[in-house]
Amino acid sequence: MGGSIAGLFAARVLSDRARKVVIVEPDDTSAQAQSRSGVPQDQQVHTLLPAGRRWIERWLPGVSQEAQDRGASLVGPDKQFVGYDDIRQAPDGVDHQFLAVGRPLLETLVRDRVTALPHVSVLRAQATGLRYGDGAVTGVRFAEAATDDQGTRTEGVLAADFVVDAMGRSSKLSHWLGQDGYDQPRLERLAAPVNYATALFERPAKFPELEVATVLQLFTPQYPSGGVSVAAATAIEGQQWLVMLMGYGDNRPGRTIDEFRAKCATLPPNFSEITSGDVTRDVVTYHQAESRRRHFTEAGRLPARLVSMGDAVASFNPVYGQGMSSAALHASCLASYLDSGADLDEVATEFLRLQQVVVDAAWAVSAGGDAARIYAENGTEVPEEMRQQRRAMEQITGAALIDAEVSGAFNKVSYMLRHPSTLFDPALLAKAAAAAEGATAT
Ligand SMILES: Cc1cc2nc3c(=O)[nH]c(=O)nc-3n(C[C@H](O)[C@H](O)[C@H](O)COP(=O)(O)OP(=O)(O)OC[C@H]3O[C@@H](n4cnc5c(N)ncnc54)[C@H](O)[C@@H]3O)c2cc1C
Repeated sequence: MGGSIAGLFAARVLSDRARKVVIVEPDDTSAQAQSRSGVPQDQQVHTLLPAGRRWIERWLPGVSQEAQDRGASLVGPDKQFVGYDDIRQAPDGVDHQFLAVGRPLLETLVRDRVTALPHVSVLRAQATGLRYGDGAVTGVRFAEAATDDQGTRTEGVLAADFVVDAMGRSSKLSHWLGQDGYDQPRLERLAAPVNYATALFERPAKFPELEVATVLQLFTPQYPSGGVSVAAATAIEGQQWLVMLMGYGDNRPGRTIDEFRAKCATLPPNFSEITSGDVTRDVVTYHQAESRRRHFTEAGRLPARLVSMGDAVASFNPVYGQGMSSAALHASCLASYLDSGADLDEVATEFLRLQQVVVDAAWAVSAGGDAARIYAENGTEVPEEMRQQRRAMEQITGAALIDAEVSGAFNKVSYMLRHPSTLFDPALLAKAAAAAEGATAT
């Protein structure tokens, strides 16, 4: 249920293990690389972290090359600027490659490859509920998206041995489970009021030294740069810069091109130049009030033969760029679970356990920062444990600007290649503290 990134990854994994895979998706996805209503965030910048790219290449080898053939860029460290204010993070000596591509094109490339697999098909319909038998899900109730001449929608039940909920952060699965006598997973919400504004600009060939991904994070509490906390510019297909500005709370990065450019003029190091080209798509804004996760592991009574993946389980503060890579890691959990020989007539506990490790790790990175910000903004006292963690993180991010080893450890966690607990290794913390002290002394 759901044919976006998480649903497509699930279908890819299931295609190796099932006779028939049906993706139930209401949107018409036949148009190539077009924005669509089921994914309202798809006009905003979408960074595919190295963890996500690794999985995509494993399951769909050559997708990065196909993206490049369509004008996207695969950008190595020499053409990236990742920094805090105008200070560039220390290079870690690892060839991290970012695929700079518009989200609709990336989704199209993944969809074309997945739906070309011999036993994968798409049912253009909205999932409306589940059918059960003997404590397990046995089918998906649906209403076809298209209507007949009389305006009637065909409804039906699609029989299924295994069902994946990939309906995104507004998934109705919990509601259905509650209605059908099962437990509703607890919904955890964390205020993270992000305001995005993204526009596209012509990218003349005058930036050869910065082919892609300028990511700039302004963590100064007083938001001096016109309220912009994060700014990113990505050289995507069509010789364009996809430029995103993000502000928290009441800080809105602007709705018009003039406002947008005015904010960019305050940003180091070269956002002014980047946004000086002709506008190829006007500013599109997006607001998200909170991060959310659903605690399936805590639910006592769930049906068998059902799992949830992607944003339907956890949808994070998007500036950390974790969503698509999380979906890929959930799909990898699904592959491990199905290959473990688990009894499918039992609740997918082992899958939930694996997935929780992934969700906890991503949540620790993004929600940790947001929780500390909320305490700071409210002027309330930060709990001791969190205070220590934030202090350690501040030392690590500070040291990452000057020390290659700390920068490498930090990147591996930010890019979802390593668990965040690796950052709390005492030797690394000592190195970070020493680097920070050295920087202060000089
Ligand atoms: C502003 C913003 C910026 C982001 N930036 C990044 C980024 O830089 N990097 C990154 O990795 N992630 C980013 N994300 C997150 C990313 O968009 C998602 O994690 C990603 O799309 C995977 O989500 P998904 O497939 O679980 O759900 P979605 O992409 O939300 O898709 C849900 C799908 O379910 C379908 N659906 C809904 N209801 C039904 C139904 N009843 N029946 C059948 N189908 C249904 C919808 O049509 C849609 O296709 C960002 C998100 C936002 C909001």
